[in-house]
Amino acid sequence: MPADPSPQAESRDAVDVLIVGAGPTGLTLAVDLARRGVRSLIVEAADRPFTGSRGLSLQPRTQEAFDDLGVMDALREAGSPLLPMQTWRNGCRAGEWRLVERDPQAPVSRYPVQWLMPQWRTQQILQDRLLALGGAVEYGTRLTALRQSDQQVHAEVTQTDGSRRTLTAAYLVGADGGRSTVREALGITMKTEGGPLHAAVVADVRLDGLDREHWHMWPDGPGGELLLCPLPGTDQFQLTAPVGDEDSDPCPQRIRELIATRTHLPPTAVTDVQWTSYYKPRTALAERFRDKRVFLAGDAAHVHPPGGGQGLNIGVHDAYNLGWKLGQVLHSNAPDTLLDSYDAERRPAAHDVLDLSAQLYRLGRKPEGSRERARHRNRLTLLSVHYRDSPLSTEAREQLTPTILQAGDRAPDLAYTPADADAAAHDTPRQLFELLTGPHFTLLAVDSTPPPVPPTVRTLQVTGGALAQALGMGLFLIRPDGHIGLATHNRAHLERYYTKVGLAAD
Ligand SMILES: Cc1cc2nc3c(=O)[nH]c(=O)nc-3n(C[C@H](O)[C@H](O)[C@H](O)COP(=O)(O)OP(=O)(O)OC[C@H]3O[C@@H](n4cnc5c(N)ncnc54)[C@H](O)[C@@H]3O)c2cc1C
Repeated sequence: MPADPSPQAESRDAVDVLIVGAGPTGLTLAVDLARRGVRSLIVEAADRPFTGSRGLSLQPRTQEAFDDLGVMDALREAGSPLLPMQTWRNGCRAGEWRLVERDPQAPVSRYPVQWLMPQWRTQQILQDRLLALGGAVEYGTRLTALRQSDQQVHAEVTQTDGSRRTLTAAYLVGADGGRSTVREALGITMKTEGGPLHAAVVADVRLDGLDREHWHMWPDGPGGELLLCPLPGTDQFQLTAPVGDEDSDPCPQRIRELIATRTHLPPTAVTDVQWTSYYKPRTALAERFRDKRVFLAGDAAHVHPPGGGQGLNIGVHDAYNLGWKLGQVLHSNAPDTLLDSYDAERRPAAHDVLDLSAQLYRLGRKPEGSRERARHRNRLTLLSVHYRDSPLSTEAREQLTPTILQAGDRAPDLAYTPADADAAAHDTPRQLFELLTGPHFTLLAVDSTPPPVPPTVRTLQVTGGALAQALGMGLFLIRPDGHIGLATHNRAHLERYYTKVGLAAD
């Protein structure tokens, strides 16, 4: 979608939310805003959509968010579950094993395993959804400068043909990647954590001689390991291999050499090299995620090494956290303080997996690391990320047993039977997420009577069963991103909470 100077494009020069960067973070945010009727525009410096496979794995919690945003069916059709690993030694198969075993202790999810998907395809599916919802992406449009007043943000953009214009928005979100111009314009520093990590190349290749049912690895090649993962929905493989600084510009010929020296395949097995990239991973966190009307999200706010497959996923969750809050402030008179909770919730969540990503990156994908990886498998799913310490989480019940879910936790996707006797008799048990899907809040009344609620809030009364057992008794206000905002026995707490999130009657 090239930059488009039509009158329609001019009408986009003033929007509610300007998103900088059409990576997975920016696209997820735009989809969430579009389904809320918030006018947004993505400006993207590149002339066309991203074409590399880079961020391959979608974690269970990300799949849940994508389900809610209406893209999971397409992602399931185009992707595959995490494949078994196949080790090769001396040209022979030397063992099949699992990179991540399922954790029986992990929270129940309808998407229990990592899902493999080339990043370009994830982005394409998100963009298709965005366009179907009436949203827009302007390619070939680079943000070069910004300034903000009390009411607005003004963004200078330069298009591929050299022309410039100023866009105006109520809020701006920098989802413009690790070298973020937005972050730099705000003067927000990144705090680098941990020591140096080895460089690597990633490439998308076509080759003969390997099955597509395994993620192939050669652990002992000269210069280090080499992995080839079949890319679902394509006839390509993603190559990853640690390399030295001399490989900072890997050409197709170098990719062929790497395959020939580190695997049993001859250089002629490689029929095509589609995309290559060299990266020097680092671990860094922005000192803050908000500056007045401007927010940082995704790699612009935190940079992860690819160990454990977290970077793309954490960015998607930033967007999922911010989207509903912007929607409530712009359309429902929620106070501006609601937006402060974005930094309060997402900075600790990103920080929590930075070390882990570096640790898993150092460990590599060798079978010897299986026990260590298994220790962290629950964290990697992101199903246990919680916001208990957020100013937006109010747990008003007392004397809770340790296993009871609390305000700030992800609401569980457990079966429920409606409390109403007639409905229960005619209804088969349902899963909670069927009711949560969509941009609304939900009030759960567990073993209690629900009070009247504002028109945009859905209500469910539950008596007994798995859901009631996990939550305990009380009234639970579930946020649009599936976290429990308030847990209480007291109806008056609900009224106060409605004011915080823009649900109170005017
Ligand atoms: C080898 C490798 C493997 C990985 N594997 C995984 C994995 O398995 N799982 C996982 O979760 N993550 C993985 N990642 C990380 C993942 O790719 C990133 O975290 C993800 O791309 C971040 O998404 P983003 O939208 O925040 O930023 P990006 O994808 O970097 O998108 C930012 C966009 O902003 C645009 N932009 C930049 N500056 C401007 C400007 N001034 N104006 C307008 N547009 C601008 C860029 O062109 C780009 O399109 C991997 C990364 C690498 C390198």
